[in-house]
Order: sequence, then C-alpha cells, then structure tokens
Amino acid sequence: MEDFILRATAANGFIRAFAVHSTKTVEEARRIHDTTPVATAALGRLISAAAMMGATLKNEKDRLTLQIKGDGPLEGLLVTSDANVNVKGYVFNPQADVPEIYPGKLEVGMAVGHGSMRIIKDIGLREPYCGTIELISGEIAEDLTYYFAKSEQIPSAVGLGVLVDMDRTVRQAGGFFVQLMPGAPDEVIDKLEDNINRLPYTTDLMDMGKTIEEILGMILTGFEYEVNDKLPLNYLCDCSKERVEQALISIGAKDLAKIAQEDKKAEISCHFCNKKYEFNEEELMSLLAEALED
Ligand SMILES: [Zn+2]
Repeated sequence: MEDFILRATAANGFIRAFAVHSTKTVEEARRIHDTTPVATAALGRLISAAAMMGATLKNEKDRLTLQIKGDGPLEGLLVTSDANVNVKGYVFNPQADVPEIYPGKLEVGMAVGHGSMRIIKDIGLREPYCGTIELISGEIAEDLTYYFAKSEQIPSAVGLGVLVDMDRTVRQAGGFFVQLMPGAPDEVIDKLEDNINRLPYTTDLMDMGKTIEEILGMILTGFEYEVNDKLPLNYLCDCSKERVEQALISIGAKDLAKIAQEDKKAEISCHFCNKKYEFNEEELMSLLAEALED
C-alpha cells in the first residue's frame, strides 16, 4: 500500500487532526541507511512526525526540519519535509544499538539520550522560524507534545509508532497528531483526551488490520468530523551535483585548495540518500576559482 497522510477537522474546527501511514517511507529510509532496529524506530518516528507537520505548511516552497541532538548512541537525527510531504532524513550513527529491556520493545529514548530538539520552519520569511526544546524522554512523540505546548502554546497529542520485523524490515509505521484550537470548550477537550487515553498503539492497531481511516475515526469518536485531504507521502531526495558543488564552494577557498592540491579528487555522499558525487582535479580547480571570486 502507498503511504499517505489524512488531514481532518472536527468539533466545529476546534480540533485539527492528522494521521499517517508511513510504512513504505520508513522502510525506504531503513534500506538507504541500513539502520539497526532501534535506529529505524527513531528515524521512522521522526519521519512520521515531520510528514504530518509538513502537511500543516501552506506554500509550495515551505520547508520544515526536525533535528535532534542527543548523548545516546544514535548521536542525533535530522528529517526534513515540505508542503508536498516529500520527506528525507538520516541518523548520525545508523549502526547504533542498545539492549532491549523488554523483549520486542525498542528503547528509542535510551538510544537518543539526553539532548535537544530543534524545529526549523522555512516559510519564505527572511529568517526561518526556529524553536528549540530540551528533550523530555527522547521517545520523540512526548518531546513534540512538549514542544507544541511550550513553544507554540497549542495543546497537542502526538502518537508515533514503528514496528520492525524479525528480518529488520519495517512491518508497520504510522502515527497521529491532534491539536486543539484556541477557545475549544471543556467538553471537547475532555472527550478528546479520553479518546486518546483509550487508544492502543497506532502500529498495534495497524497490525490488527485497522486502516488509518479507522484509527482516525477512533481518535475522533463522538465528534462530527470531516476528512479534508488525503496526501501521498514519499521519501524523496532532491540532491544534485550542482547542489553538492555549492556546498563544496561554501567550505571556503583555503580548504578547497587543500583538497584540490593534496587529494586531487573528492567523493561526496549525500547524507539523505547516500548517492555519491565525484569530483576530479579539474572540477575542483574550477570550483576553487568560483570560491575565490566570492
Ligand atoms: Zn540525496
């Protein structure tokens, strides 16, 4: 099944809800980065979150980045998404592993460790919007809930799940993201909290055969709601040799000259898709000339 995001409104617009089916996208990330199960779970949760948050962006060129830096073995993660919900991301240390305390439960919080999360929204203003929080648990959904309450003052609930199979491939990945708009009546808040507290894990529901539409229906039980959009979700890297050239130029003439003279070639891999870009001496010299012009 292809991945998608559902965007819905409920309770006369006081509730804004998103739900995502991201199994294929997270599996693609796992395949590219050859991640351990716990790294797959962490990256998958962040991908699902970034995808749903990307669906809140309004303009074609808007872009959202979620960045985690932690003192755990994963060291950190970065995922970006755009308004068309094309996502890409990576784990700093994809081979990191932590022991399981409960069999089958991946210890994402332990693998992430203590640290911070940055949310960067580039919505075409001169400076991108940037919010930073200390991590609460490193489990990602909890950290994002805290971020929305603290930085954006929007009461939210976030659920994110990744189920990894015995052969290390992604069996199920998905999640939800619900926000209360200002002025929501108490009975709406109480009912929604009750629904979410009763909800089993999203990926367990998916594994039982529940569709994302049904899971969204469970979250919004007792409310009148409308699904406004169903957006296709894809893992897509838009890197190109031109972009890598710009990155090389930006390291500065001094370092570039050193590479050109000592190594006489360079091989740069894209962090997001692992595609390799090669530069020979002649190409490096012409980039050096451009760097010197700046
Ligand atoms: Zn790439």
